[in-house]
Amino acid sequence: MPLFIVVAALFGAVIGSFLNVCILRWGAEPKESVVRPPSHCPKCGIGLRWYDNVPIVSWIVLRGRCRGCRAPISIQYPLIELLTAVIWAFTFWRYGPSLEALRGAAFATILLGIAMTDARAYIIPDEFSLGGLALGVLFALAAGKQALGIALLGAAVGFGLLWLVAIAGEWMFKQEAMGGGDVKMMAMVGAFLGWQGTLLTVFLGALIGSLIFVPLTLMGKKKLVPFGIFLAIGAAATYLVGPAILAWYGAYLGTA
Ligand SMILES: [Zn+2]
Repeated sequence: MPLFIVVAALFGAVIGSFLNVCILRWGAEPKESVVRPPSHCPKCGIGLRWYDNVPIVSWIVLRGRCRGCRAPISIQYPLIELLTAVIWAFTFWRYGPSLEALRGAAFATILLGIAMTDARAYIIPDEFSLGGLALGVLFALAAGKQALGIALLGAAVGFGLLWLVAIAGEWMFKQEAMGGGDVKMMAMVGAFLGWQGTLLTVFLGALIGSLIFVPLTLMGKKKLVPFGIFLAIGAAATYLVGPAILAWYGAYLGTA
């Protein structure tokens, strides 16, 4: 295996470790700083040493328990670290050591963060959505004028489309059906995927979301729908195979 893929995986694990902190603190109510205080056990307050913070490894060495009070540490921590490592290894394997690999890895990492905060607390932090929007525009800027135009148009379409859905939902259900977090999130997705990718993301997100949540809602098991999770899955799928789907659809329209 080429060395840069191993390096990407290790770097991804470290990013994943930081992502855990972001998910926990940005997704908290009220929001907490990701810098202070330093990581500590929520039960006994003992500070984490550097060797307690080695991604994936520390959790295994400690057998999922705090060094001080033996309180269980959620398996979410090593899983997020592992998943982020896989994301970074995969994008660098797919695109080689390039700006596109970095862009894809950053995009997928942000989507993972959004899916987790939305699942835990129905929150999509601005740090992910608006921060990601800025990052997407910067990547486009680095790629040239044409890419920048595509990103800005995509962001406008993502924002506008979800804003219309939110307005329509509020009018139909007489209550907030879709949060402002989803609207800002889709502006970010648009900056990374362009307007066609944005439409495909919303289509796939709504499809997956209704396949899972319509049965749950009918059984009365679920009231609030964390739609951001499905938009995140739809966006990741669009990034991976969207161009192929759009090309097939274009050819289909051409022959129909
Ligand atoms: Zn403890």
